[in-house]
Amino acid sequence: MNARQKCILIVEDEPKLAEVLGEYLQQAGFLSHWIDHGLKVIPWIRENTPDLLILDLMLPGRDGIDIFRELRTFSTLPVIMATAKVDEIDRLLGLELGADDYVCKPYSPREVVARVKNILRRVSLPLAEQVSGSGIEVDVACMEVCLNHRKLDLTPVEFRLFNQLFSRPAQVFSRAQLLDCIYDDHRIVTDRAVDSHIKNLRRKIHDAMPERELIKSIYGIGYKLEL
Ligand code: CA
Repeated sequence: MNARQKCILIVEDEPKLAEVLGEYLQQAGFLSHWIDHGLKVIPWIRENTPDLLILDLMLPGRDGIDIFRELRTFSTLPVIMATAKVDEIDRLLGLELGADDYVCKPYSPREVVARVKNILRRVSLPLAEQVSGSGIEVDVACMEVCLNHRKLDLTPVEFRLFNQLFSRPAQVFSRAQLLDCIYDDHRIVTDRAVDSHIKNLRRKIHDAMPERELIKSIYGIGYKLEL
């Protein structure tokens, strides 16, 4: 389908780890580029077009969270965050950064490659849908949602959440089902993460479409979209 080899940017200050990951990615058919310093990341991304970023949190020069924040001001590049601290995961979600996935160190490179593939598959679905008369347009390829012709400023996770609800309007999704569609592996993510993303999504929807409450909470079960 796409002849161009996908390029994965590895941001990691441990050379051995970066090297092993690079080898696994190469074996899986990807190109990879390695950066070992926090200050070099944003300039490189502005000059090049990687397809996905694997971002270590603790880096010399600039930490991963700071890099991620700036990245999201100009790009929806899929990001997998890598952290050595399990405790960090909840904090990361609490910050509502909207990373596409998280891995805990030490990780298996094989598992990281599997997640890279999953994310790239997910973001490459070429689909644009709208339900006539609803005022809602979803463009999966661009990961965009427009309400009343106003584009919502969504994080990738919020987009997937919205798209999942939109794909089957009126069906009630449990938090676990929604977690399944927004993260590949949610062993370490709590249900609260879904509520937190839904809250942000509602606020953004409200700004564009204040007259309607699209996302309904179903007590004790989960959420659904009402067109
Ligand atoms: Ca590090």
